[in-house]
Formats: sequence, C-alpha cells, structure tokens
Amino acid sequence: MNAKPVDLRELTKEEVTALVAGLGEKPYRAKQVWEWLWKTHAPSIEAMSNLSKGLRAGLAERAVLRPLVLAEQQRSDDGTVKCAFRSWDGHVVEGVLIPTEKRITACVSCQVGCSLDCAFCATGRLKRLRNLSAGEIVDQVTGIAKLSMELYKRPLTNIVYMGMGEPLLNYAAIMHSTERINAEDGLGMSYRRITVSTAGIAKMIRQLGDDGAKFNLALSLHAATDEKRSSMMPINDSNNLEELMAALRHYTRLTRKDVTFEYILFRDINDSPEDARNLVRLCSQVNAKVNLIEYNATDDGRFQRTPIEKALQFQNYLESKGITARIRRSRGRDIDAACGQLANKNEPALKDGERVLKPLRAAH
Ligand code: SAH
Repeated sequence: MNAKPVDLRELTKEEVTALVAGLGEKPYRAKQVWEWLWKTHAPSIEAMSNLSKGLRAGLAERAVLRPLVLAEQQRSDDGTVKCAFRSWDGHVVEGVLIPTEKRITACVSCQVGCSLDCAFCATGRLKRLRNLSAGEIVDQVTGIAKLSMELYKRPLTNIVYMGMGEPLLNYAAIMHSTERINAEDGLGMSYRRITVSTAGIAKMIRQLGDDGAKFNLALSLHAATDEKRSSMMPINDSNNLEELMAALRHYTRLTRKDVTFEYILFRDINDSPEDARNLVRLCSQVNAKVNLIEYNATDDGRFQRTPIEKALQFQNYLESKGITARIRRSRGRDIDAACGQLANKNEPALKDGERVLKPLRAAH
C-alpha cells in the first residue's frame, strides 16, 4: 500500500480526538496531543513526552508529524536574521526575524518558490514547487519566535506573510495557519498583529470578505495604472485594477477592515507627480493607507531606487490629500533578507544540521 500518510497537523481537533479515542485512550489525551501539535510544538511524535509509549507508537503507526527544521541562520548588521527552513521532502524556504525599536516581526513564506514572476522580485525567479502546509507556516513562526527570545529576549509582536510565495494561491493553509496563530490553544496572538500580503488575486480577495477574515490585508500595488502594473506584474493581466478595486470594496464592506497598499518606489518608473495622483485616485476608492517601500536591488538593473528626497515629495503629496502614507526603510539588505530578495541563495551550501554563516553577536 502506498497511501499518503496523514500528517497530524492536517487533522481537525475532532479528527485528532477520534484518532486518540480509536486507540482506546481517554479524551484528555487528545487534548494533550493537540497541545503538542499547536502549542508546545513537538518536533516529533516521539517527543510527546507526557504520552505513554503505547499511545505514541499507536499515533506513529497511523500518522506522521513532519515539521520544518531550522537549517541555517544569517544575521544582518541591523539585527535582522534570515532563517532557512528545510522541509521533510528536502525543500528550503526562508523566514525572517525583523527587530525594530517598537516591533519585532516574523516574516514567513507560504510557498516553495512562487508562480507569479513579478519583474522586481527575486523569489519570482524560483519555480513554484509546492504549497506549504498550515503546520509548516506555523513552524516558521515558532522557530522565529524562539530565536527572538534567544537573541533579543523579546516575544514576537507581529507576523507578516511577506516571504516567498503568494498567500492567496495557498488559501486554505493561510486561513488555517492564521487561525492556529490566533487561537487560545495555539499561539494566542491577536489577528490584528497578523498581515497577509497579496500580489492581487481578485477572486480570493472576495473570498476573504465572504469568510470574514480577521487578519490585516495588504495589496502589493506598485503601480496605479494597468499598463504600468502589467509591465512589472504579469498577474495584473488576469486581475486588473478595476477587478482588484471591486474585490477590495467587497472585502472592506464585509470585514469592515482597512487595506494597505504596498508601493515600491522605482526611480523614473512610478514616482512622478502623475503617478502620485493616480495612486490617490485608487486610495480614495477603498480608503487605503499606503506603505511606500524602498526598492531592494535584485541584480538585474532594470529597476532603481527612487532618491529619498523624491520619495519624501511623493509621500507629502499623498499626505496632503489626506492619505496615510509611510516610508518603509529596508532591513536586512546585506544578507538578502529584505523584501523581494528571498531566493535561497545559499541553498547549495546547505547541509544537515545547523550552520551559521555569519557569527552571531549577542543581543544588545
Ligand atoms: N506574494 C505576496 C507576498 C510576498 S512579497 C505579495 O506580492 O504581496 C512581500 C512584499 O515585498 C510585496 O509588497 C512585494 O511586492 C515586495 N517586494 C518584492 N520584491 C521587492 C524588492 N525587490 N524590493 C522591495 N520590495 C519588494
């Protein structure tokens, strides 16, 4: 028989309860198993130390537990730490710990590679190999949270789905993982601290509205006309601005939440006064806030960063029209951990076990 083994973290609570009952165990054992899966994060079934050997053996006969393993970490001069996680089937995905004065954020990946091919993004050059499971997404959060305590003695304050991949093309795992991050019998973090960023899949944005999604939503806009947007984001051909704005209105009406537009400023491409006016028009349609993002070079030279004076003018214009606009300075650039730079550059060098490329300095 070659049936695919069931991963314990693909099961609902009811299914875990039934599985444990089927092994002749009392109901509180199911609760313990559930907590090992989602609260204390056992690295294996064997490690669930308060369960009897018999129960562990019974579980291991019927199911598997295959968490991501932190394989490598690199620390930037600004304190950002890029983590390479390895999956049971040998893939590597990256997650990032981003400490700032006010926040300490985990940025997580949701797919191995990405299918969208945005011209400015290094991840877009990797083929999409597979979706990550909800458990594998939560593994990045718990792995990064542990590092945060070890290095900075601070618990995570925010989680952003802005690593590799397109979250809304892995919808079920996004819903499940955010629910587990939020749940009392999970990580217990407020939905307000979770942000999912999408390149813009109109149908799934509507679905978020229908499902009453409670996390924050950010749209990677980057251009305010279809012509410009399609020239750098092929996904815009099938999900144009009109469809996206209509989907966002549906979403905001049903969830009563705001949206944030992410807008990378590219020198002489999307940073003119006319671009700013077009952006204002889109913002007014859905009441959006804007994060202006510094471009991080991804090697090919087609795009350049807008000079800071011009970025400030762009920001001032938006603010003068009553739109909240912030400039997001880049972090972790020296180790290719910044937005759009996640591309498994070190993957060929990965070996089993932990390998630290840059010496880790103590937290200050
Ligand atoms: N696929 C999702 C999430 C991953 S990207 C999305 O597109 O939103 C997270 C953010 O980083 C997005 O806003 C993305 O457009 C931005 N980004 C990608 N490449 C970048 C680069 N080279 N410099 C700065 N930001 C970049």
